[in-house]
Amino acid sequence: MIKLFKTKKSACRCQPQWPALVSEMNGYVVPCQPSEHGSPMTKLFELSARCAECSATYPGNFIIEPGTPPPFEWAHEPENTVCSCEPRWPKLMVKLRGQWYLGYPGTDGQLVVDGAAEGAFCDTCGARFLGDMVVDPDDRSHLEDPHET
Ligand SMILES: [Zn+2]
Ligand SMILES: [Zn+2]
Repeated sequence: MIKLFKTKKSACRCQPQWPALVSEMNGYVVPCQPSEHGSPMTKLFELSARCAECSATYPGNFIIEPGTPPPFEWAHEPENTVCSCEPRWPKLMVKLRGQWYLGYPGTDGQLVVDGAAEGAFCDTCGARFLGDMVVDPDDRSHLEDPHET
C-alpha cells in the first residue's frame, strides 16, 4: 500500500509563526484564532485551519474569530442586487475617496461612477447597485442628524 497523501506534520514558515489563521466553511474563508480547546462549531464541521500567509495546516485547536458573521447565512443568501424599495433605488449610497455620497441610477450628471466598482448600494434596503450611477455631491442629507434641531 502506497501512502501518497501521508499527512506530514506541517509547520508554518512565517516569521513569527502563524501570523493569521483562516478556515473554510461553505466555500467562504473565515478568520480564525488559536484556542486551547477549539469550539463546538469547528469540531462539528471538522474544520481545519491554515496559515493565511503560507497555507500550512494548523496542528492545534482553533475557533472562528468572534464577531465573524455566520457563514451559513452568506451561503444561503446570494448577494442581494435587487432593490426591494418602491420605487426602486430611491437613493444610492457610495463611498468615494473616503467620503460617503448619495446619488441615483443613471449617467446624466456631472459625476458618473460605476456602481459595481465603487460598491454602491441602496440607502434604504442595502441592495447592491451594479449599474452606472450619478453622484450628487450636494446632497448631504445622509450626514445630517435628523434628530438635531
Ligand atoms: Zn505561515
Ligand atoms: Zn432599496
